[in-house]
Amino acid sequence: MMVDTTDYKCAVCGKTLEMDIGIMGLQCRNCGSKIFVKKRPSIKKTIKAV
Ligand SMILES: [Zn+2]
Repeated sequence: MMVDTTDYKCAVCGKTLEMDIGIMGLQCRNCGSKIFVKKRPSIKKTIKAV
């Protein structure tokens, strides 16, 4: 069973916050900002050089 977590980055201070999806009224614990940028998990691309 995989847990689908979304990483958010504070748009003000840039602090990365891990939060559960669905929580409303998010607030940065660092600076109190309520503006967040959704971070996409880094996808590793495997390229096979044949
Ligand atoms: Zn912040």
